[in-house]
Amino acid sequence: MNMTLMNADEYRESLKHRKPMKIYFLGEAVDDPVEHPVIKASINSVALTYELAQDPQYRDLMTAKSSLSGETINRFCHLHQSTEDLIKKVKMLRLLGQRTGTCFQRCVGMDAMNAVFLTTYEIDKTHGTSYHEKFKEYVKLVEENDLVVDGCMTDVKGDRSKRPSQQLDPDVFVHVVERRDDGVVIRGAKAHQTGAVNSHEILIMPTETMRDEEDKDFAICCAVPADVEGITYFYGRQASDTRRLDISAEGDIDCGNPEFGGQECLIVFENVFVPYDRVFMDGEIEFTGLLVEAFAGYHRQSYGGCKVGVGDVLIGAAASIAEYNGVASASHVKDKITEMNHLNETLYACGMACSACGTKTGAGNYLIDLLLANVCKQNVTRFPFEIARLLQDIAGGMFVTCPSAKELENPETREIIEKYLVGASGTSGVDRMKMLRLIENLTIGRAAVGYLTESMHGAGSPQAQRIMINRLVDMEHKKDLAKRLARIIE
Ligand code: SF4
Ligand code: FE
Repeated sequence: MNMTLMNADEYRESLKHRKPMKIYFLGEAVDDPVEHPVIKASINSVALTYELAQDPQYRDLMTAKSSLSGETINRFCHLHQSTEDLIKKVKMLRLLGQRTGTCFQRCVGMDAMNAVFLTTYEIDKTHGTSYHEKFKEYVKLVEENDLVVDGCMTDVKGDRSKRPSQQLDPDVFVHVVERRDDGVVIRGAKAHQTGAVNSHEILIMPTETMRDEEDKDFAICCAVPADVEGITYFYGRQASDTRRLDISAEGDIDCGNPEFGGQECLIVFENVFVPYDRVFMDGEIEFTGLLVEAFAGYHRQSYGGCKVGVGDVLIGAAASIAEYNGVASASHVKDKITEMNHLNETLYACGMACSACGTKTGAGNYLIDLLLANVCKQNVTRFPFEIARLLQDIAGGMFVTCPSAKELENPETREIIEKYLVGASGTSGVDRMKMLRLIENLTIGRAAVGYLTESMHGAGSPQAQRIMINRLVDMEHKKDLAKRLARIIE
């Protein structure tokens, strides 16, 4: 295989070769995240992005030709060169959503790289700076080594009614605290960082559009290795996460999705040094808006792929449990599954549309249609909730009252459970239990974090898309259309 492509084992190995990192989970320091029973599942999800790239069946979706080196690279490292690339990205994310049933984390880095690429080009054009060339070198490093990049945007933000420089403690926004001859020193914290502990690199971006000169120190975009000195990771506590710790002899049925999981962290930067060759914006406040909107737009497009793939798993779970329960041919069940498919494919249609209508940027990579990407994400804040509701409706209440898989260890209780959990035409009680646990995991358990809450707030909360939709829609044109038909001449 190509030198620029790692396989899944090499990826896991590469994480082990990082310098010791400060990671906390449930109040304890984690020395080896790769072997940690809770973290492992989230690493498996990222590892699948490497594994499928090695599979000839998925090569066309999972890899691309680098625009910088001409080498075959993992698509997660790629700068999109056409609308076809944008479409393949969405298809790739749907595939991975189907295979993991959760968040596989690697997309934020891809979205961040494409956004920083086009923004640095525009900054240089205005200011005569050399950020773009430096950033190209950085992308080459990522491509050649097939790295996972954490696209790191959301600050903890403190008082939301105040600008960064007005905060009582400026550290609630990541900012430059010192400028040296050879680089800058940054401090602050970023929240909700998807896959941070599973990454090789952290690509830091400002969190919002800035306008005031006083906010200059907060307009910082730069990259640091994930194991750089001064970073502390706080691994997020999430619903049902410790189900992974109480494994029964029967296996890990109670996890619902034993192999795959997602990951979100709080990252604290305590005086982290960044050399100038890794600084891609420093004080150019007028470009913060472009960077934030481009990144958010790309990530809103992503949700038209990954959440659709996970939606496919929910629909498959609905059809399976309906069969197990013996209600698959009931007309209302069939109709509900049709509705689930309709909603899910509508999301996919939005992901496809914003990709197909993408345009070439000044820097040469492709940007999605921002209006359609925002419409896509706005639908994602609603439809998965309805799809999950329909799944819960079809499943019946057993997915929250089902006994633990530990009961299967005792032959006496096992017999009772197998007898009473039995489904239609001899469906085994244990298989039914497994499907019910997956439904729990997807709709109220660990994976609901990604499928529901992240659909609501990830890539920007609903109001953020409404502001963009309002801004991007041409209202004067619409009014003219109406007035023309009404023969109103003003
Ligand atoms: Fe990728 Fe979706 Fe997870 Fe975002 S939420 S990182 S797009 S899988
Ligand atoms: Fe996300």
